[in-house]
Amino acid sequence: MKLFFASGNLHKAAELQSLADAGSVPVQIISARTVGGMPAVEEDTGTFVGNARKKAQALRVRLPADAWVLADDSGVCVDALGGGPGVESAYFAGPEGDARRNLAKLVTVMRDVPDSNRGAQFRCVLLVLGPDDAEEIFEGMCAGQLLREPRGGAGFGYDPLFVPAGYSETYAELGDAVKNRISHRAHAWARLAEWIRRGRA
Ligand code: IMP
Repeated sequence: MKLFFASGNLHKAAELQSLADAGSVPVQIISARTVGGMPAVEEDTGTFVGNARKKAQALRVRLPADAWVLADDSGVCVDALGGGPGVESAYFAGPEGDARRNLAKLVTVMRDVPDSNRGAQFRCVLLVLGPDDAEEIFEGMCAGQLLREPRGGAGFGYDPLFVPAGYSETYAELGDAVKNRISHRAHAWARLAEWIRRGRA
């Protein structure tokens, strides 16, 4: 099955293709670049599902009528920030969406938060838009804690600050192989893969 990926985020695309390759259903994640790139989308709906839907619909118009589209909207929801930055994770430090500045801002705003209140959850919504405009939504979550300083060089975004529950290393230290077993995206993908295995019904 071919899924056109409604995103310009190469890290997400690589993770999703790894997840697909590791599973029992053959899925090819096709970059939006192959159809002229991902159109600009204002992520202003206030929900992961709403933003994922906007991304999928924006790419949909560039594709043949029988194409399938996949969108990912995700972020980190921090208990001490009332669930923020959440859907605003990509733009936490400003509209330019600079990942390095976003991470630095999270370090700063969490500096004085005690260890007892550093819980956070990564959340991911995967939305599939079919040829008939029917949509399927798959959600995944990974709970953990935020460190005070980033650690590790793998992954992207907030990975160096996040230690998943049951581990002592960050997503960025654990690396792709472990992250792709336990992450928010992996959990959402497992549900999507199960839906494909069942015949998309
Ligand atoms: P969006 O889904 O395009 O709104 O962007 C999600 C943002 O959340 C990314 O820019 C990252 O900052 C963050 N994010 C989502 N998933 C991950 C992840 O797996 N690791 C680290 N950061 C992530």
